[in-house]
Amino acid sequence: MSNSGPDAIGLCASCRWMRRVTSRRGSTFFRCGRADADPRFPRYPALPVLACAGYDPQSVGDGPGRGAPGGPGAPGAPGAPGEPIEHG
Ligand code: SF4
Repeated sequence: MSNSGPDAIGLCASCRWMRRVTSRRGSTFFRCGRADADPRFPRYPALPVLACAGYDPQSVGDGPGRGAPGGPGAPGAPGAPGEPIEHG
């Protein structure tokens, strides 16, 4: 069984900050792009990530919108079990 599917990755699988890194050996790592600018985020988060304050779902089809946290407008949002933390 493979354990590299979206269920094994969690929120990072659909987060716009996720950077997939493949080593020459063929191993795949998931690097958090937010870690570059915010030290509170681990560069290589422990998977699966089930809750993350920095989660920002990728927009599907629409252009990059510098997504406003808490804003609706994710028509293709996957039915992930965890919801992103919203700030009022
Ligand atoms: S911000 Fe959170 S959900 Fe997004 S890639 Fe980083 S650790 Fe994963």
